Amino acid sequence: MITQQIKTAIRDIPDFPKPGIVFKDITPILKDPILCDNIINAFVEQLKGTRIDVIAGIESRGFLFGLTLATKLGIPFVPIRKAGKLPFTIKQRAYKLEYGTAVIECHTDAFEPGQHILIHDDLLATGGTVTAASELIQEMGGIIAGFSFVVELGFLNGRDRIKSISNTVVVLAE
Ligand code: 5GP
Repeated sequence: MITQQIKTAIRDIPDFPKPGIVFKDITPILKDPILCDNIINAFVEQLKGTRIDVIAGIESRGFLFGLTLATKLGIPFVPIRKAGKLPFTIKQRAYKLEYGTAVIECHTDAFEPGQHILIHDDLLATGGTVTAASELIQEMGGIIAGFSFVVELGFLNGRDRIKSISNTVVVLAE
């Protein structure tokens, strides 16, 4: 039911941000507080039994449900951001994009070594972003508790890539 509600709310935007790409616009979901609440409750339900000490949200749409979920679970939220945005001391990791590279960063005091970190983003595509986030977190001594996404673009097989990092992959709509 939640899957259908999400699919109905998401808007396909052809040729954004580049010709040939159909972008999944999640902003209509944010206008529906009941659906937002259902999404958080679905994550809580599906993550029951998984040890999570901290949620790391990926800039920027990973902040939307990431923080709400962390607050609901009563645990800290930490942002993983693009280069140059975080004000305190940072640790960074570069990763490959289709064209060129990107860098993600995390504050050095975001979590303690040995803590179990859930990586959250709005959408799983190739898995490149969350794989880089996992590597950054692991380099800093964190343990990957799993991943959560509102939506997955199944045809890009991102799930196969991240399953080797953690078996806990929660996706509400494919
Ligand atoms: P990946 O690294 O898995 O290939 O791409 C996922 C990242 O790109 C996520 O941070 C996600 O927010 C963003 N992204 C890529 N395509 C889309 C899309 O169609 N819709 C949305 N909302 N985000 C996308």
